[in-house]
Amino acid sequence: MNFFSNSKSLGILGGGQLGKMMLYVTRKWDIKTYVLNPNEDCPAKLACNYFFKGDLTDFDTVYKFGKKVDVLTIEIENVNVEALEKLENEGIKVFPQSKVIRIIKNKCIQKEFFKKNKIPTSSFNTYKNIDQIKKDLSSEKIRFPFIWKSAVSGYDGYGVKAIYCKEDIELLHEQESLVEEFVKIEKELAVIISRSENGQVDSFPVLEMNFNNDINQVEYVLCPARVDEKLYQKAKDISYKVSECLDHVGLVVVELFLTTNKDIIVNEIAPRPHNSGHLTIESCYTCQFEQHIRSILNLPLGLSKIKTSAVMVNLIGDENHTGPVQYKNIEQILAIDSVIPHIYGKKETRPHRKMGHVTVLNSKIEKALQIAKKIKKTIKVISK
Ligand code: ADP
Repeated sequence: MNFFSNSKSLGILGGGQLGKMMLYVTRKWDIKTYVLNPNEDCPAKLACNYFFKGDLTDFDTVYKFGKKVDVLTIEIENVNVEALEKLENEGIKVFPQSKVIRIIKNKCIQKEFFKKNKIPTSSFNTYKNIDQIKKDLSSEKIRFPFIWKSAVSGYDGYGVKAIYCKEDIELLHEQESLVEEFVKIEKELAVIISRSENGQVDSFPVLEMNFNNDINQVEYVLCPARVDEKLYQKAKDISYKVSECLDHVGLVVVELFLTTNKDIIVNEIAPRPHNSGHLTIESCYTCQFEQHIRSILNLPLGLSKIKTSAVMVNLIGDENHTGPVQYKNIEQILAIDSVIPHIYGKKETRPHRKMGHVTVLNSKIEKALQIAKKIKKTIKVISK
């Protein structure tokens, strides 16, 4: 299948910022693209060749869209998997495969996958309803404090809660969920692995994610992670094992916890480009988006080595602002050397909504972090 003939096409389910950044690559290579998204006002709309508005979770919509393309990929997991299965059976190449999305889409199934494959992860129990959680608390099968996660549709920390007491449980919504041991985390790491259809496998440098604990969201990402060589290798080894067991095509991002007693365990995985890898656009020879496109189109993988160390800071909507967006003081940060802002093009800002990011390049990572912190204070994402 030659994607450079312009008679072949690539479909993307989802039109957010990840889709938009994948399209930087298809634009560069003049690959024909189709995007499906429920909302027309989305970041990826301008960069694709054909845009379709529709529900990503609806069987018919996804199936009909998939029939138009030769290869189909995703930028969000919450899509209709049954339609993807049917498309696969009819010869459309769907990467990541439906079997991979099925595992990752539901956090309970994902944890069972780790357990079955002896991948180190925190201990957990799965629940169909809140009453069962209460029963397990009374019988002391589980104890406070613990981490509660909704099985589906949680993202950016929205479906995750630290539970300390009975009152906290009353605030939970009735749904399938996961209760996890409260891990003592020293650092959060991520490893991005790419795997092409012909079995070529590669990985990016280990990344370090610094969280804002109040809102459970990544604030800064550092490349490479500040961990010793042994831990660095251990993070890579575990991630390669995850990739092998998943048998995916495309990217898989393995989010890891380095615990206070120096264990490395898997938190969760994503079968697509990820927020932690945005800085690879400037800091690595090949970025995560290009590597994803290369792997799903069965092209040779690019060199994922680091060019310059870097720190990325997320630009999120200010707490007190909702409405048409404005980026205050962006000129000030554009005036700093080796600082590259990315604006996603979402029309409306909301508290904590991811609206853009800024990459800071510097051969000294501590200096890059210092600049990133200054940027965070300077630029404000507010409404007009
Ligand atoms: P999401 O899919 O919304 O990103 P995660 O499962 O990654 O959710 O959890 C968000 C964050 O919550 C993690 O990055 C981590 O900081 C914290 N967290 C998640 N699980 C645990 C745990 N078992 N123990 C302690 N903190 C956790």
